[in-house]
Amino acid sequence: MSAEILVFYCLQDNIGALVHDPATGACAAIDAPEEGPILRALDETGWRLSDILVTHRHGDHVGAIGPLKRRFGARVVAPAKAGSAVPAVDEAVGEGDTVRVGGLAAAVWETPGHCADHVTYWFADDRAVFAGDTLFTLGCGRVMEAGPGTMWTSLTRLAGLPDEARVYSGHDYVLANARFALAADPENAALKERAAEAERVKNENRFLVPSTIAAEKATNPFLRAGEPALARSVGRQGASAAEVFAALREWKNRF
Ligand SMILES: [Zn+2]
Repeated sequence: MSAEILVFYCLQDNIGALVHDPATGACAAIDAPEEGPILRALDETGWRLSDILVTHRHGDHVGAIGPLKRRFGARVVAPAKAGSAVPAVDEAVGEGDTVRVGGLAAAVWETPGHCADHVTYWFADDRAVFAGDTLFTLGCGRVMEAGPGTMWTSLTRLAGLPDEARVYSGHDYVLANARFALAADPENAALKERAAEAERVKNENRFLVPSTIAAEKATNPFLRAGEPALARSVGRQGASAAEVFAALREWKNRF
């Protein structure tokens, strides 16, 4: 049986996610931004929290671990590289590990760049990837603890997932991301359509998560750093994709 996945807002613009295995009843929260919305989601679904899978150590992703662990005794899985910055860790994971949620399995990929300890959880059988603050719908995370080349390597890896893979990210920044994407890639027809969809969806108080790898490869300027149009936008014709990525990220920081 395949995973059931629910996404919902937490805090200002974080996205909470629950992954439920109907066969065993196991249920994982991907990160723990805020207790209230996670409890409401559990209440609505009747699922019981068994695990918390942490993508990285930032406060807006780990703040509710303590109360959720006290309430449910959930197992906390977190990047080994985060060390003691994530509270109450039961299992520290890194590149190549497999995490099980009941009968579901996720491969752990280290995807540094946004921060040094960042990991991504790839549920291959369910074609679902939890990319935390590495890849967003129409954007990517700020590069805070590595050079842009490291982030580019992490993003390239995600872009290599199957086209139909569903991308669950840690924040909803889609309108701001769409404005930047349109500035960086103004002739992209698929992007124009997607930006209009983002506006529509926002007006209905929904968000464009999950996205898909195919949609991101077609519209996300950061995944399109290898395209000549993006190189032109940053005045770096002929530069490597990694260099164009670095220039795009720098531009977005000031945008
Ligand atoms: Zn973060």
